[in-house]
Amino acid sequence: MMTVIVGPMFSGKTTEMLRRLERYSLAGKDVVLIRPKVDTRPYLAHSKMEFDGDRLCCKDLNQMLDILDHYHVIGIDEGQMFPAIAPYITEASLAGKHIILSALNMTSEGKPFEQVSMAMHYADELIKLTAVCTVCGSEYATMSYYKGTQAKTGDLLVGGPDVYEARCFRCWQEGMKNPKKTKDEKIIFEETLKETALSVE
Ligand code: ADP
Ligand code: MG
Ligand code: ZN
Repeated sequence: MMTVIVGPMFSGKTTEMLRRLERYSLAGKDVVLIRPKVDTRPYLAHSKMEFDGDRLCCKDLNQMLDILDHYHVIGIDEGQMFPAIAPYITEASLAGKHIILSALNMTSEGKPFEQVSMAMHYADELIKLTAVCTVCGSEYATMSYYKGTQAKTGDLLVGGPDVYEARCFRCWQEGMKNPKKTKDEKIIFEETLKETALSVE
């Protein structure tokens, strides 16, 4: 069983995943949470979940393959940061585990994360969350907008509300046209528009 939770930053992906993990934990299932080592945010503060022994614990990415046998339910946060997440979770699901993957589906330049897209297609259950647009207040912010000043040259740049905000598609596009955007960001954005057919020529 494979549940995939996607959406932009601040859409509540981690909160929703933890809510689900807590329920399984309370029902006596062995639950594990996996998150990338680079993610050191204390987001577990979102949760009232108690970490008792082996029932519910938090591991890092490197231990991922060794732990499969020990747990019924495996939550994975920041799925876009794992290089080959789609085949891993498909295999784990076939082995009878319930995988709950929380991941960004796109970069802040609007480029889909390929492995996450794959996972979305093969998911038994797909949940797409939205945030509130910080510009116009729309309920349907589907995009993560990069507002940092440090040039963003790759797909991944770890940061929080200081460098990212949630925007609806319209406000995100407006922002991407801002002349202050870096050259690299503009290039990725233009390429993305072409590749994803988001613009009509
Ligand atoms: P994600 O894992 O998707 O980044 P989290 O579960 O960590 O999301 O955080 C969701 C929380 O972020 C919300 O419950 C809310 O308190 C907060 N938040 C901050 N900015 C926004 C926003 N623009 N829209 C909605 N929630 C926001
Ligand atoms: Mg999160
Ligand atoms: Zn908006």
